[in-house]
Amino acid sequence: MAYVKIEQLKKSFGSEAVLHGIDLEIKDGEFVVFVGPSGCGKSTLLRLIAGLETQNSGSISIGDRKVDDVAPSKRGVAMVFQTYALYPHMSVYKNMAFGLKQAKTAKKEIDNRVSQAAEILGLTELLGRSPRALSGGQRQRVAIGRAIVREPEVFLFDEPLSNLDAALRTQTRLEISRLHQRLNTTMIYVTHDQIEAMTLADRIVVLRSGRVEQMGTPLELYHTPENRFVAQFIGSPKMNFFEASDLPEAARQRASGNHSSNIEIGMRPEHMLVTNSSDGIISGRLELTEQLGEYTLAHLITPSGKPFTAKTEHHLKLQLGDDMHFNIDDNRIHRFEKESGNRIDLS
Ligand code: ADP
Ligand code: MG
Repeated sequence: MAYVKIEQLKKSFGSEAVLHGIDLEIKDGEFVVFVGPSGCGKSTLLRLIAGLETQNSGSISIGDRKVDDVAPSKRGVAMVFQTYALYPHMSVYKNMAFGLKQAKTAKKEIDNRVSQAAEILGLTELLGRSPRALSGGQRQRVAIGRAIVREPEVFLFDEPLSNLDAALRTQTRLEISRLHQRLNTTMIYVTHDQIEAMTLADRIVVLRSGRVEQMGTPLELYHTPENRFVAQFIGSPKMNFFEASDLPEAARQRASGNHSSNIEIGMRPEHMLVTNSSDGIISGRLELTEQLGEYTLAHLITPSGKPFTAKTEHHLKLQLGDDMHFNIDDNRIHRFEKESGNRIDLS
């Protein structure tokens, strides 16, 4: 087991700077998820940790060891990729054993490790099969098994669920969670999916254009996003943003404090409370509803023309074209400086 420390890590491809000086500390045994939009540098960062790319400057430590000059195979990491690339002509057993065999591990030891990993992943019955005879989810489990048998100090996952269909994705996500509980090994997991990030992570690192926007627990990011980018990235449906001028006169002071002209006001759809009176903090005309059984998403538009979404009780009788009014608890209102996007806390 090992912590991972990244200091001032910079990476360019040709003239394109992709990572701009990343600083991170990942604790021993922690499950950390790198999340961010496509192209923000998640895979590059993971590949640098694995040693599959070389940084331009900065340094990486795994455990007490600086690994900048250490070969990938000697870093104590094992990586699972989005495309699992199993050897088609080898059985599941041989696929899982391959790396150990290459490393000249004793046959008995290989046997032990493969059967243990197969048991953890529910693959015991499938060890004799060829990858062709497996479902996508099973193949990805074999790829994870291949990583487990190496007994790495750090697991690296690069969007391992992206090729699976939705149901399988949820199931395999749970399996990865259980795997972490069981092995307690440091895991670094890359995804563009904020739900995967929220459900798997001890801590999430939100990346944007090669920079860390915020690192924190899922609930820290949800409740106190440090900037507008994190606020809109974490949470589903996305946070609504308003300007003071979108709000009824009477609500402006309450929502924006004394920052009225250079502030954006954030409210999550699930925190908007339907009120009967017209004394709500925000009003809108109902344009569209989505019935999800447990709740309904109401899509509205403010008198000033700004679209927003509210998550409402499923039993509300909503008529398209209706005017609706919403209130919100004071401590659920988020405020961001318009220019920088930085969070403002009213004192
Ligand atoms: P993510 O995994 O977040 O989608 P990547 O780390 O794959 O992003 O890519 C970050 C940026 O670096 C992208 O603009 C991508 O085009 C570029 N990039 C990644 N790998 C290479 C490479 N081998 N050569 C040139 N550009 C690359
Ligand atoms: Mg990627």
